[in-house]
Amino acid sequence: MKKRVAIYGSTGSIGTQALEVIEAHPDLFELEILTAHSNADLLIQQAKKHKPNIVIISDESKYQQVNEALSSEHIKVFAGEKSLIEMAASDNYDILLAAIVGFAGLSSTIAALQQGKTVALANKETLVVAGDIVSELVKKHHASLIPVDSEHSAIFQCIVGEAENAVEKIVLTASGGPFLGKKPNYLINVKKDHALQHPNWTMGAKITIDSASLMNKGLEMIEAKWLFGLQNEQIEVIVHSQSIIHSMVQFIDGSMKAQMGLPDMKLPIQYALAFPHRIQNDFKRFEFKNFPSLTFEVADTKTFRNLALAKEAMLMGGNAPCVLNAANEVVVDAFLKNKVGFLEMSDIIESCLEKVSFIEKPTLHDYIMCNTETRNLASSFIK
Ligand code: NDP
Ligand code: MG
Repeated sequence: MKKRVAIYGSTGSIGTQALEVIEAHPDLFELEILTAHSNADLLIQQAKKHKPNIVIISDESKYQQVNEALSSEHIKVFAGEKSLIEMAASDNYDILLAAIVGFAGLSSTIAALQQGKTVALANKETLVVAGDIVSELVKKHHASLIPVDSEHSAIFQCIVGEAENAVEKIVLTASGGPFLGKKPNYLINVKKDHALQHPNWTMGAKITIDSASLMNKGLEMIEAKWLFGLQNEQIEVIVHSQSIIHSMVQFIDGSMKAQMGLPDMKLPIQYALAFPHRIQNDFKRFEFKNFPSLTFEVADTKTFRNLALAKEAMLMGGNAPCVLNAANEVVVDAFLKNKVGFLEMSDIIESCLEKVSFIEKPTLHDYIMCNTETRNLASSFIK
């Protein structure tokens, strides 16, 4: 039986790579749903080529354009966030790849989990914002959450078959981004064009800035906590600039497993979609002779304060990670528009963490309100 796949965020970096994976295995996967926010042209092009049964454009003003362009195809066209949620809760697919960026991905993933669905999760912000609620939903509805983020896929691959064995700690590897080794006197002047040049990965703009500021690794610590049910002190970060070891797990006997490979998101995407199977592919293989040295160093959290702020938010718990995430989404967007400096991003996030009221056990409604409140506050700091 072929797996019917829904790609939420098909026009993004993860979404387009997922389409390549699916296209290479027509015997295993069938494309059911594609969604985009406002990139109607690419969504139309993808729909004509891959022929899903349903497409959703969340920006309703683009509905007519998409509907008209696909009128001669047997494809149902919907628009708006409500449709994203309704289709995520429907029986039209077997696995949903959650590849929308940011807080916007939360509602559809929740809708899918409430129906006991399998979600291949790229959207880490979902677990950062509401990890406690999302993990409860997975348990309550016997849903499955399979990580796509490369570090979390690595950990997941290391613990497959180890269900009875306790994990002592995990080690998340960080590339260090384009500014590895740089100090504040350099970072104060960096602009988006430089920050967008990641040395090892080609990704969407938001996560690329997060990688440059090390916020990405902070978000991933919180993501790992909820995905793998870890205590805060079981999560470590190490800078490994070659991005060959994607992360490691140490078990209670001290033995450590690492998952390795060339940095290519198609591998974790394929693993998540095909799980529990591994499938043959023609991706370029890692060779030791091309990497004579793999290096490891402690992250400089005095310079890259976002990582320290994320850890602080994780330790605080409650709505603090939601505040961190919302403030970060606002400052990254502002940085991409040249409205705030690279280092200012951390100042604004820190102010938001200080100013937004702490809630120890937030409801989903609290998280939604907290996201809005923090966005407004963070925006007020930006001229
Ligand atoms: P992109 O920015 O490349 O793509 C984002 C996708 O989400 C696009 O399809 C976009 O549609 C859609 N989208 C944006 N805003 C909204 C919205 N408000 N409502 C509905 N859909 C929306 O992001 P990436 O593919 O890089 O990342 C996606 C997620 O995966 C992120 O959470 C990221 O952290 C995570 N991730 C990404 C990795 C990567 O290598 N790229 C690696 C690990 C994790 P449109 O094109 O129309 O704007
Ligand atoms: Mg990652």
